[in-house]
This record gives sequence, C-alpha cells and structure tokens, in this order.
Amino acid sequence: MSLPPKLTDLIAATRGFLPREEGEALYGLCRQAPASRSQPIVEIGSYCGRSTLYLGHAAKEMDATVVAVDHHRGSEENYPPFPYLDATLISPFTSRIDTLQAFRETIRLAGLEPWVMALIGNSPTVAEATGIRAAMVFIDGGHGGLPCWMDYISWTPRLVKGGILAIHDVFEDPSEGGRPPYEIYLAARHSGDFEEIARVGSLAGFRKVRA
Ligand code: MG
Repeated sequence: MSLPPKLTDLIAATRGFLPREEGEALYGLCRQAPASRSQPIVEIGSYCGRSTLYLGHAAKEMDATVVAVDHHRGSEENYPPFPYLDATLISPFTSRIDTLQAFRETIRLAGLEPWVMALIGNSPTVAEATGIRAAMVFIDGGHGGLPCWMDYISWTPRLVKGGILAIHDVFEDPSEGGRPPYEIYLAARHSGDFEEIARVGSLAGFRKVRA
C-alpha cells in the first residue's frame, strides 16, 4: 500500500475512529468498486473526514465522485454517557457538535474538493431524495439500532450489481463494541445478495452479486 506521504500525514492528523490498517483496506475495497462520476461512492457518516480521505483519494485515481453523507451533528455515541465526545467540536451557536467545518477543511487540505461532495442531512432522507445508484456504500454512521438499520435498509438497494458494501465497527464479541453494525453485517451475509470479500479489523467488505 503506497498512499502519498502528504495524504498519510493528513490522515494521521485528522480526528476520527478509523485505524490506518482498516483505512487502507477501505481504500482497497473502493478501488474494486465500479465507480464513476455518475455512479458514485457513498459514505454514510463522514465526521471530520478521515475515512473520506481514503475514499476521496481512490475516487481521484478513478475519476469518480464521493458523496459524503452526514448531518454533521454527531451521533448519539458522540454525546455522554458514551466516551466519544470531542468538546472542541461543539458549536457555540448550537451547543451541539458541528463537524462540517472540520470536514470541509480536511477535504480542502487534501486537494480533494473536485472529487468529494458533502451532502448534509439524514442518510435515509438523502437516499430517498436523490435516487443515487451507488458503486460503493460505506456504512459508518450512527451506531445505534435505528440509524444503523435505516442506513442498511435505505442504501443497500441503491448499490449496483458488482458494487461494494463496506461496514465499519463490526464486532462479533459484544465486549468489544455495539451490536447494530454486527447485526447489519449478518443481514448482508445471510441476504444472498452479497459475497464477503474482505475483513480487516472491524471493517467488513462485500460485493453485491444480485441486482
Ligand atoms: Mg466507525
């Protein structure tokens, strides 16, 4: 894996929860997606843009587009009692997290603005409103039961045959992490629509084999 050193430095400096090994696997999955400008890579849950850098770099190489979907208000696990609150991201206007500015700055610094489009809103609403046919869907949004299942239900029908589904934070062992990402991972496995093609840490990758 040889990502440009400037990009790996920026990735390391960007706030987020995707370890390097899993990010490189995400990049590898993305390169296998049948992506183009009209058949984008969709990321659900961008936060400050760390994972988007891997996807955006792949998109640049493929001359494709990343649609980065996030309401940028943080997920439930970014607020107490969960341990993932970053107080520096709290907006003085709303007293809630606002990751949009950090996200935009990440993408600008990487020079990836021509290939990365932020779509601000709830992912099921965006899925309904846009009619995107996706080459790849990366699910890493809210990890609660409802958001996680809504992401799965809303976006997997949008994946083209041969497209890539990636799910982050898949933990078989309940002591390592929450259940919903693992539940949708099982749903994909048992649906008959997907073939599992990669597993690195808590990142799982599938290819869609049925339209
Ligand atoms: Mg994650």
